Amino acid sequence: MVFPFQSIEDFKVEITEEHELFRKMVREFVEEKVIPRWQEVERENKFPDEILEGMKEMGLFGVGVPEEYGGQGGGQVLTAILMEELARGIPSLAVNLGVNHLYMIPILLFGNEEQKKKYVTPVAMGEKRGAHANTEPGAGSDVAGIQTKAKKVNDHYVISGRKIFISGAEEADYLIVSARTSPPGEKRWQGISVFIVEKDWPGVEIGQKFNVIGMRGEQPNEVILDEVKVPAENLVGQEGMGFKVIVTTYDHTRIGIAAQAVGIGQAAFEKALNYALQRYTFGQPLISYQAIQFKLADMYMKLEASRLLTLWAASLADQGRSEFIIASSLAKAFSTEAAEWIARQAVQIHGGYGADWEMGVERYLRDAVITTIYEGTNEIQRLTIIRSLLRQAFGLRV
Ligand SMILES: Cc1cc2nc3c(=O)[nH]c(=O)nc-3n(C[C@H](O)[C@H](O)[C@H](O)COP(=O)(O)OP(=O)(O)OC[C@H]3O[C@@H](n4cnc5c(N)ncnc54)[C@H](O)[C@@H]3O)c2cc1C
Repeated sequence: MVFPFQSIEDFKVEITEEHELFRKMVREFVEEKVIPRWQEVERENKFPDEILEGMKEMGLFGVGVPEEYGGQGGGQVLTAILMEELARGIPSLAVNLGVNHLYMIPILLFGNEEQKKKYVTPVAMGEKRGAHANTEPGAGSDVAGIQTKAKKVNDHYVISGRKIFISGAEEADYLIVSARTSPPGEKRWQGISVFIVEKDWPGVEIGQKFNVIGMRGEQPNEVILDEVKVPAENLVGQEGMGFKVIVTTYDHTRIGIAAQAVGIGQAAFEKALNYALQRYTFGQPLISYQAIQFKLADMYMKLEASRLLTLWAASLADQGRSEFIIASSLAKAFSTEAAEWIARQAVQIHGGYGADWEMGVERYLRDAVITTIYEGTNEIQRLTIIRSLLRQAFGLRV
């Protein structure tokens, strides 16, 4: 036994030729159409339509979504490859895609057939966009602490509340919204429900944009819900089971965040290595110094460990194994901290140029910081890791 797993076989990661062909196709697109426009995205804080159109034409918005709902099929491994390659170009492009997953996954996992057809299909096809509104001024990590209320009135619910840090809210057509349908029961997490809300319904307002440290191009907004009338048929899953809908969604989507971090680490490492080969100090290239060689070796070590953990978590999820939950937390926490560290070393290797925006290196550090915070901070990942381990190995609940 490989504690807490059953066998060494549990660590198998299977990558097929299709995966590799797909990766090459996405990389080509990113090299040609995305990377040359990073400065424009940083300055204007939005993506040019041509990039998003290109992604739509390639069917990238439907990767990981079943074909019957307008998707391209493929599982978590394929999605992780896509996220990594987009993030290697401009990390916030992976966020642009990821917010659609945060919107579609709760519907795919807990929604009914009509909801999947009506609300997933257009998003998977790239015709419409989704966003996920859970965080509030008083509750982020503590999902059970949300205050937004949904009151049942005949055949609809009336939702009021305020959500913050909602990525993709400005461009979204549809929102996943969590709200309290009843006060907490015996357990704090009871009484929460999840709804699909159309953004142009009366009472939905997109508020201020948050000027966060990184991920320019896809920075989040406030969403205000003022007595929004939502048909009862837009309840996702059963009333009161919203906490499960939200946390199960993050179990799946945080593999994508780990993959974003791998892409950031890859880009920062490549830049640092190239620079070390070209830059001369004291009459010699930087790469000739052992201090720089060791730094690059450590960067590469953490990068490949991140990639393996991420693809392992994705493989377990694709096999339908419940252990993917612990693996996805391991991958998210490790890879995002590795990316932050790798990006910091890349800045250092570039010296003064590394601190300059024009060089395009410091942006990886700013973007990496964000990945350690959203979709469950790394502190929350550590709680998930130890709790899952204790439960799985000893049946203990702490
Ligand atoms: C750029 C960006 C995009 C985002 N996009 C979205 C989005 O699209 N949709 C959405 O709903 N949300 C989104 N968020 C919100 C994000 O998920 C939350 O910010 C995050 O979950 C943390 O919640 P919080 O900010 O309330 O921090 P808090 O929960 O208040 O935590 C503050 C600090 O305390 C730590 N902490 C909290 N509880 C514990 C504990 N029990 N043990 C140990 N440490 C603890 C946290 O790890 C953190 O370091 C986004 C945030 C950012 C920055």
